[in-house]
Amino acid sequence: MPMIEATVENKYRAFALHNFRSIPQMALLSEEQLFDIEVVGNVLPFKVNNYVLDELIDWTNYEDDPIYRLTFPHRDMLKPEHYELMANTLRKTSNKMEIKQVANKIRLTLNPHPAGQLELNVPEIDGVKLTGVQHKYRETVLFFPSSGQTCHSYCTFCFRWPQFTGMDELKFAMRETELLQRYLERHHEATDLLFTGGDPMIMKYKVFRQYIEPFLAEDNQTNIQTIRIGTKSLSYWPYKFTTDPDADDFLRLFKEIVDSGINLAFMAHFSHPVELETEAVQEAIRRLRSVGVQIRTQSPVLRHINDNADVWAEMWRKQVNLNCIPYYMFVERDTGAKEYFDIPLERAWKIYRQAYQKVSGVCRTVRGPSMSCTPGKVQILGVSEVAGKKVFTLRFIQGRNPDWVARPFFAEYDPEVSWFTGLKPAFSEKFFFEDELAQIYQQKVGDPEAANFE
Ligand SMILES: *Cc1c(COP(=O)(O)O)cnc(C)c1O
Ligand code: SF4
Repeated sequence: MPMIEATVENKYRAFALHNFRSIPQMALLSEEQLFDIEVVGNVLPFKVNNYVLDELIDWTNYEDDPIYRLTFPHRDMLKPEHYELMANTLRKTSNKMEIKQVANKIRLTLNPHPAGQLELNVPEIDGVKLTGVQHKYRETVLFFPSSGQTCHSYCTFCFRWPQFTGMDELKFAMRETELLQRYLERHHEATDLLFTGGDPMIMKYKVFRQYIEPFLAEDNQTNIQTIRIGTKSLSYWPYKFTTDPDADDFLRLFKEIVDSGINLAFMAHFSHPVELETEAVQEAIRRLRSVGVQIRTQSPVLRHINDNADVWAEMWRKQVNLNCIPYYMFVERDTGAKEYFDIPLERAWKIYRQAYQKVSGVCRTVRGPSMSCTPGKVQILGVSEVAGKKVFTLRFIQGRNPDWVARPFFAEYDPEVSWFTGLKPAFSEKFFFEDELAQIYQQKVGDPEAANFE
């Protein structure tokens, strides 16, 4: 097995607004394109690194390159009037406060807090709100460690963009595991703990270890059976598990977790097959698999990046060949540059269906297209004809009430609609879960009207 040696190439170097003009490949861009990056990058998050630049982007065709589109701001990501507003601001001032004020004004129009993330899912213990925790689905608790709230590079479509732009200042993050531990001890229905971020794999070994230690301790009284790590590190910085100074420490810790009887799963975000093709990512996957880490894969379906059935079929097949398990295909959330990446739900379903038809059963562990919205994760099963009427058939993959799961329901067919909020019930006044959801809102935030199904 070829081992990759640590070299200058795999020493992490980040580029953002303040220094992106020093990226050698920027010489290919026109001054107008560089200015576009500045305009959009002042509103939406922007960060790339040397691995993404040198190993993933094909610079001979960068304008249409999926990873370039995924990581570099593009003029069309902002509405023309917002683009003009920011462009004019940059032309007339370099005052940071002034620029930030304009940026925040634009950001507030981009639905910065979709899917009722703020109040509804934050649990309490002994009257204390666990702000770095979300418990929406019975079995799985989401944990946002405060040291994991950034990423090795940023995706321009990311729904977590408000925290990367400094708009949210780590609102969800949590430093202590003590309260989390106590919560999990009292909530044995929670079998899964999902570390999320940002990207928890941005953490150094010593910091990450502290979050994990309580689950390895003798006196662990929680019922956590699976620890999941939501991460794009395999795509954006695979050296984390090969040549970084603490790579071996991480692998030993992962082995320790697995040996303790806990299932350790990476929920790995891959958006395009090219992310699976480098020697570095393949070596990283081999090493993780060799210590017993399970790797499950997920991504949204995005215009300009992967809105093509062949791309998905190739991606799932390559993942399985590398010993990864295809898990979710998501619909892009209704936030940030949604309109730029948007595709209609019908088209997302067709891409899923055509790709699914092209692969064998071992790849068909994947579920989608799925929308993470207030009532739950809603899967588009397809377009059907029921009682002479064209409808969408939907079902919950996850529900705020577990009883809602796996029950087909119908919405009016609409070829344009691209998010759950645009759907209307097909054969009734309300969707079957609406009254119950309003009740949940009433209990938690005292306002049934807040249940607007985002
Ligand atoms: C997707 C998601 C989970 C995990 O759900 P699984 O279907 O078990 O993968 C947990 N919590 C929230 C809020 C989620 O959106
Ligand atoms: S890696 Fe994940 S959290 Fe980070 S910017 Fe991309 S989608 Fe968002």
